[in-house]
Amino acid sequence: MSIKVTNLTKYYGNYLAVDNISFEAKKGEILGFLGPNGAGKSTTMKIITTYLPPTSGTVVVDGFDVEDKSLEVRKKLGYLPELNPLYYDMTPVEYLDFVAKLDGVPAGEIKKKREEMIKVCGLESMRKKDIGTLSKGYKQRVGLAQAMINNPDVLILDEPTSGLDPNQIIEIRNLIKKLGKEKTVILSTHILSEVTATCNRVIIINKGKIVADGTPEELQAKSKGQSLVILEVKNNCDKNALSGSLKDIRNVNKVEFVKDTGDSFVFNIYGDKGSDLREVISNKVTQQKATVLSMQTKQSSLEDIFRELTK
Ligand code: ADP
Repeated sequence: MSIKVTNLTKYYGNYLAVDNISFEAKKGEILGFLGPNGAGKSTTMKIITTYLPPTSGTVVVDGFDVEDKSLEVRKKLGYLPELNPLYYDMTPVEYLDFVAKLDGVPAGEIKKKREEMIKVCGLESMRKKDIGTLSKGYKQRVGLAQAMINNPDVLILDEPTSGLDPNQIIEIRNLIKKLGKEKTVILSTHILSEVTATCNRVIIINKGKIVADGTPEELQAKSKGQSLVILEVKNNCDKNALSGSLKDIRNVNKVEFVKDTGDSFVFNIYGDKGSDLREVISNKVTQQKATVLSMQTKQSSLEDIFRELTK
């Protein structure tokens, strides 16, 4: 079971939303599609799930092309769209039976399948309430249950935890991780912690292009690996003169003025990998007749890489 995307491009009129992207996802993989809003994640998912045609390029799901064999592709996959469309005047039981029938689950198996989904998605206590009265978290669970009711090999989940509270987020993440062992899962998110918590592979997409592809650990290792010192000084000094003198330090690559808190100035000072700049920074601050309030060191994280690649 695999998804193969080759040179996929999508224009909306003259607007290029997806720009010649290629990647593959395999069974057992939970692939996180990470990118800022407007990056092209939903568009790519809509094409994989056959809801939109590509402008050019191909998408093949388990050997079936999304354009020529869209019905076969739909049978293979479950899809939770960004705006989880539900019938609010149905109960979860009625809705799941309805979707199962549409998805071609044999009549004799519908009840069994529905009960399985109610159990897996933790919907037992809500089974007889109108969907319209459920909380956002439970509505999302109904959305996940409908995506999985025909036991698809591939799950495409567009922002599956958006709008959920922290407890619900943890439950849905655990559910996705469990499912991901047996299936091919692609989920999209604009939240970095989502991919580190759930995914075993990340594709970072920005302005329609893939800018990074690898495990979270690989991406971290590939980063420039700069060291970072966050410096806070009392604001009774000349911040431009201080910034200039910090820039002159050997091994310092960049000095960023972060903020004026009212009684202090905060700077980010980036240095070469492995360098410890604290002592020399402290000396420079003293030379400028300024006072250090605090200094923290940090190694660059996946968050820095994401910022580097998508700013
Ligand atoms: P993401 O899911 O990463 O937030 P989308 O795939 O929804 O991004 O959108 C990518 C870009 O395409 C955005 O700039 C968006 O405004 C534009 N876009 C999305 N859908 C349409 C549409 N139906 N018509 C025109 N432009 C669209």
